Amino acid sequence: MTQPLLAGRTAIVTGAASPRGIGLAIARLFAEQGARVAILDLDPAAVELAAGGLAGEGHLGRVCDVTDRQRCREVVDELAARWGRIDVLVNNAGISQPLRLLEIEPGDYDAVLDVSLRGTLFMSQAVVPHMRSRGCGSIVNISSVSAQRGGGIFGGPHYAAAKAGVLGLTKAMARELAPEGIRVNAICPGFIATDITRGRLPPERLATILATIPLGRVGEPREVAGCALFLASDLSAYCTGIELDVNGGLHIH
Ligand code: NAP
Repeated sequence: MTQPLLAGRTAIVTGAASPRGIGLAIARLFAEQGARVAILDLDPAAVELAAGGLAGEGHLGRVCDVTDRQRCREVVDELAARWGRIDVLVNNAGISQPLRLLEIEPGDYDAVLDVSLRGTLFMSQAVVPHMRSRGCGSIVNISSVSAQRGGGIFGGPHYAAAKAGVLGLTKAMARELAPEGIRVNAICPGFIATDITRGRLPPERLATILATIPLGRVGEPREVAGCALFLASDLSAYCTGIELDVNGGLHIH
């Protein structure tokens, strides 16, 4: 019998307690593939519930606001001490706001940029020393098709900018960390059925978007999780600094 793809590995997934979210779908698939998984999110009850529902044993739920650098370090150091290794980090936490350019207030800008971009930086800074000590690791950053095509689906221009920032950070980190055996890649999901999008678009707007997706449907969180599994596992051992599109053909470039 072949080994599960993440047998013996450990993984941290941020923003992973949302019941219909991409992060939880990633955590579930990683657990099914043999990883011990830590679910990080904002709500104490939700992280416990999400971690408790994963297949297998050794999973943990921790409250961690990824914009709080000290908290990111505390949580990652505790997990590393407990597990003895951190193999995979998925920077998934993100928020979106459907604002137009002139509607964006300073607080909106800070909120959206901070979770996606600062959060990705702070969590990566927290895990890299642990990955470096073992000479291996995989960091997967969740960007968006909005970064590649200038928004146009749901998030505002500040969301597109935040996710474009994630792509830049991914590539710079990939270049810097490759000599130490740490791979860093990004996933660019298109229109995925989660709470960020569900019920928040008028039917006519939804129909217009669907008409632009060659596969003719929205994506499912588990379809993004499959890409994350590829990037987290040795299947992608020669990939670093890539943008992996999962968008039904919405953006072909
Ligand atoms: P989701 O269901 O809203 O999940 C995001 C999770 O992140 C929520 O549980 C949220 O908690 C949590 N979170 C927010 N701020 C946080 C913080 N400061 N620290 C830690 N966790 C925080 O959204 P999703 O659709 O699964 O999105 C997951 C990722 O995919 C995001 O980065 C998003 O931008 C990206 N993405 C989504 C789509 C899509 O179509 N759905 C497309 C492209 C990219 P609360 O609910 O308490 O705020």
